Amino acid sequence: MFDQSYSCSTCRATDLNREDDLDDRVWTCNTCGEPVLIDLADDKGNAYTVVRTLAKELRVGQYIVEDYTLSHGVMRVLASNKAMGKGNKWYLALEGVGHRKVDPDDYVNCIP
Ligand SMILES: [Zn+2]
Repeated sequence: MFDQSYSCSTCRATDLNREDDLDDRVWTCNTCGEPVLIDLADDKGNAYTVVRTLAKELRVGQYIVEDYTLSHGVMRVLASNKAMGKGNKWYLALEGVGHRKVDPDDYVNCIP
């Protein structure tokens, strides 16, 4: 899966330039500071529009998109909370996929 284009709905701007128009460390628009919309595509012809959201900011019921789960492009979040136990990990449960612990500050492709 790869980024096709970036846009900002707040600025009504399309075809943002990754180097000049957005901050690709936090995936926000340089003009207004709001999250940019990212058009994703994969080599099977699927296309998605997402925002990059921190794992710790995901909410139950949202949908995320991932590459490496072959049969599940889009997955519903069933649980999103601080993981039990030692360390600073975040617990995600995903419908049809199972659960995993991730870094709370990892960015996830989230359907807005
Ligand atoms: Zn903007």
